[in-house]
Amino acid sequence: MALYADLHRHLGGALHPRIIYKFLKRQDHPVLNYFPDYDGFYNWFTRPCRTLEEFVKIHSLVEELQSLEHLPYFCLRLCRGAYTFENLQYLELRYNPYFRTDHKLSEAKRLGQMNEIVEVISANVRPAEYPITVKQIICFDRRLPKAINDAILKCAQDNLGPVVGVDLAGPEINTERTEDWIKLMSKARASGLKTTCHLGETSIDNVDPRFFATLDRIGHGIHIPISKPEMLKDLAKRQITLEVCPTSYRQTGVLKDFSDLRTVFTRCREAGVAIAVCTDNPGRNPAPCTLPGEYERLIDHDVIDFHELKEIQNEGFRSAFGFVGNSRLP
Ligand SMILES: [Zn+2]
Repeated sequence: MALYADLHRHLGGALHPRIIYKFLKRQDHPVLNYFPDYDGFYNWFTRPCRTLEEFVKIHSLVEELQSLEHLPYFCLRLCRGAYTFENLQYLELRYNPYFRTDHKLSEAKRLGQMNEIVEVISANVRPAEYPITVKQIICFDRRLPKAINDAILKCAQDNLGPVVGVDLAGPEINTERTEDWIKLMSKARASGLKTTCHLGETSIDNVDPRFFATLDRIGHGIHIPISKPEMLKDLAKRQITLEVCPTSYRQTGVLKDFSDLRTVFTRCREAGVAIAVCTDNPGRNPAPCTLPGEYERLIDHDVIDFHELKEIQNEGFRSAFGFVGNSRLP
């Protein structure tokens, strides 16, 4: 059995909609007033969105459910699904700890609770029966003020080990704050954390090349090869890997068809930029969305040839932030 590595998956988008629905039922959650049956919920939860902003709104609902008390429930289900149905050996799970703190607390208390969130996740992503290795990437958010993002960095630094890296997430807004974010990334790196950043997902507009000196990987970055292929040389020199999540671009309205990814793969291959294929928010995509399914879709739409597949699968291990061991598929 081949085993795979997924480097870009959000805790808020990782769970199958049926798991979320069952949880809402248990809680008698008010959102069920809109969805008396599962099919209605499923269609709403997995529908393609027109924009990334629209997509992120549903994500926020799930983040609120994943409170300290309920994180063990979600973590167990996530690990057993990834191991059993996707053959994942290694997973880097990313999330914003602040969004999972108790909204009723003061800001100071919420910041204090972030360490507990990370500790609960660390304790619950090692289920005895499912030997998957899960490492964590902690996300800053473009919507949050500087003080909170600074506290998120401190939280990542305090938990180095189970936490292997940081990411900048949220809608692609507030580009005037780019300098602050670059500083955050370089501080993170100086303290031994690896770095990735959601960039160039919906357009080239937020891709500032000053980021490149501080990054190990880029979340998506697909608009670099599409719109500014001249930047690829710099990425190759710095050995920055792109995390490409095929189904996501259809769900967020970024690309019309998988075949649009041919340009991305061809130009990266020619420039020597590595690509790791990842899933982003598999629970938000129409089933079945799994990492092996993403590989198959790429071949099906002539984005890659079958003989390139092993190399792409190996890249998931080679570009990992916290994988130790034998990563090469036979
Ligand atoms: Zn993402």
